[in-house]
Amino acid sequence: MATSIPAVAYGGGVQSTALLVLAATGRINFPTFLFANTGDDSEDPATLAYLQRYAKPYAAAHGIELHELRRVRRDGAVETLWGRLTRDGSRSLPIPVRMSNGAPGTRSCTADFKIMIIGKWLKQRGASRDDPATVGIGISLDEIERVNRRMGMPYEIPVYPLLDHDPPLRRHDCAGIIAAAKLPIPPKSACWFCPLKSPRRWGEMRRDRPSLFRSACDLEALLNARRNMLGKDPVWLSRYNRPLVDAIPGAQQTLPGLDGEPGVGLCDNSSCFT
Ligand code: SF4
Repeated sequence: MATSIPAVAYGGGVQSTALLVLAATGRINFPTFLFANTGDDSEDPATLAYLQRYAKPYAAAHGIELHELRRVRRDGAVETLWGRLTRDGSRSLPIPVRMSNGAPGTRSCTADFKIMIIGKWLKQRGASRDDPATVGIGISLDEIERVNRRMGMPYEIPVYPLLDHDPPLRRHDCAGIIAAAKLPIPPKSACWFCPLKSPRRWGEMRRDRPSLFRSACDLEALLNARRNMLGKDPVWLSRYNRPLVDAIPGAQQTLPGLDGEPGVGLCDNSSCFT
């Protein structure tokens, strides 16, 4: 039986914001929420804005601790995922870039910038193999397959309050819970350059936030210039084996069905996209 603090791994999206409302209104017992920020230059600006404008004030007004955690290097400086990706001379490719067949490659970003950051906070407060922390994860019934993909950590006991709810809650139920608390529905949370983003979301970004879309195109070009120098094949931020700027039409032209890609479009461990 865990004795350390129960905490929710808060991703800033719909499912984990529903958990915030359930905790704030006493329907689940989680006094602490932990948001691992991959970087103010890395998280989607809309997620960070929601966190500051809505989630933090709502949590504070209801006696919930919502901590924003960052990766801190040994020298005390904050390291961001964008910083790691774009550092001069870096060969590091921590994000799940798409290969020529469209499949995402391996990644270290979730572990380094989400899982380890939350794990460190929990371990500093006593979570251990012998006394694991109870960690609430925002997986809804329509994404239940993510439970099996989740990597268990020795210092935690993961629990799934949306699935344990009677009846289990779907994403649209979560949106209803958030709306009933008079909060706006949060945007899907992820790094703005995440290659797991669906074509539809890339299209929406191109239409609604063209400068952010251009920054993603520039990042893709930077990564490929580097790979070219190393004699390696190009990699992509979408699954279409060509540059984002050519692959992604504006959202109004996106065809229905482009969004479906079961098992790929979501980050493991529920640290992202929840
Ligand atoms: S959202 Fe994407 S890029 Fe960001 S940490 Fe998660 S998998 Fe990595």
